[in-house]
Amino acid sequence: MATIIKDTTMVTGGAERTVLYDTSLAVDGGKIVAIGPSARIEAGLPGAEVIDGRGKAIFPGLINCHTHMLATADRGILEDFGFPTTLRFPTTGRGLLSVEERNVFALLASAEAIRNGNTCLLEISNNTTDYAESLASTGLRFGLTENINDFDDAEARRGSYRFLDEKREAGLQRNSDLIEAWDGKADGRIMGFAAAHAPENCSPELLRQVREMAERHDVGYTIHLSQSNIEIEAVMRTRGVRPTQYLFANDFLDERLIVAHCRYVDDSEIALLGQAGAAVSNNSAIAARRGSAAPVKELIAAGCTIGMGSDNMAEDMVEVMRAGLFHERVRRNDELDPQPEDVLEWATMGGARALRIADRVGSLEIGKQADLFIVDLRRAHLVPTLRIVSAFVHNGQQPDITDVMVDGQWLMRDLKLTTIDEEQVIAAAEQAGHAAWRRLVDENPNVPFPIRLPPGPRFG
Ligand SMILES: [Zn+2]
Repeated sequence: MATIIKDTTMVTGGAERTVLYDTSLAVDGGKIVAIGPSARIEAGLPGAEVIDGRGKAIFPGLINCHTHMLATADRGILEDFGFPTTLRFPTTGRGLLSVEERNVFALLASAEAIRNGNTCLLEISNNTTDYAESLASTGLRFGLTENINDFDDAEARRGSYRFLDEKREAGLQRNSDLIEAWDGKADGRIMGFAAAHAPENCSPELLRQVREMAERHDVGYTIHLSQSNIEIEAVMRTRGVRPTQYLFANDFLDERLIVAHCRYVDDSEIALLGQAGAAVSNNSAIAARRGSAAPVKELIAAGCTIGMGSDNMAEDMVEVMRAGLFHERVRRNDELDPQPEDVLEWATMGGARALRIADRVGSLEIGKQADLFIVDLRRAHLVPTLRIVSAFVHNGQQPDITDVMVDGQWLMRDLKLTTIDEEQVIAAAEQAGHAAWRRLVDENPNVPFPIRLPPGPRFG
């Protein structure tokens, strides 16, 4: 059925950054089919569901270019002990989840994502097929990939790097199988993606094959880059160059590549990324939690596309936008730049360009897929609505987002999720998260742990 949101404010997110007032937006067949005065639009679509948009604003859906949804199981712990984590457990709570529990956390993260106005996420995980059906059932748009590497973990813990042919082949096969099974599925909402994990744990052969896989399937590919000082030290020691130079030397840099993080890149690395036209996922909130920041303005000046990502333990892209704005102003001691409109662009059109779907989503324009969220402006912290993008980026809160649509389908309507049994998922995640961390602690009595876990779930 066609839907009309009438008499509303619309942040188009297009190149002109236009905000339209007292306008209406019509959706039919999953696409935006009309924008303009209500009378004309209603006359053109008799029988459409009509929603009163007064006191509200429509935004283009937020695009998360880098996340690990199951890391929500480690929430409240891994934010505060560095990266790589200083906790000495062999894994984390997330690593102990059963397949059923992985599905629970995939849905939990999806619920959080929808409530935060996300409409598209690039999920980077292992054995992603375990919960791909669950993700597809949420109605969200996804890129799916396998986070593959080919290093010998045990050897790396002793400080030396060895690469394993069998591990590489198995990882490449998993990733290729995932793309073949899921690319284009769920009415085109699912995209296959290729991924190499990170420069220090991927051999030149793996890098070459990941790029080849992406080209063979005509999909994008991604890698973590300049995420930690340990990574830089390891690549310098084993390859004799900095991480981005290692990728460049192995012909890995390209327009279809999304590099995540870029916290410690030097000028030569920024230039290489810019020359290649690579996209950067600016994971600002997790970077802040790690005490670092990506040089976003320099990356833009060099020619990179900027998207944004939540990375770990959260799917809150409103926070990611705000952290991204704060970061750049603090990092460069510049109170004027970036502006909220810049940050919103990174989280919408920037992400769409990074994922190579800017022709379909990222802004509210006729002919594009209807991926959007609605903000209730009648809030003490949002009025007066003199400049709505600024008000939302600086002051917006999750409950301000009342409705979310992807491909013309409501995923949240009047604050109620339509595709996820949220109450049941929250209760199951609380249970499974406590159980996993309790088991991890109990099975490793000699590992020091500065946290006292509560005796059990707080509700069931
Ligand atoms: Zn990551």
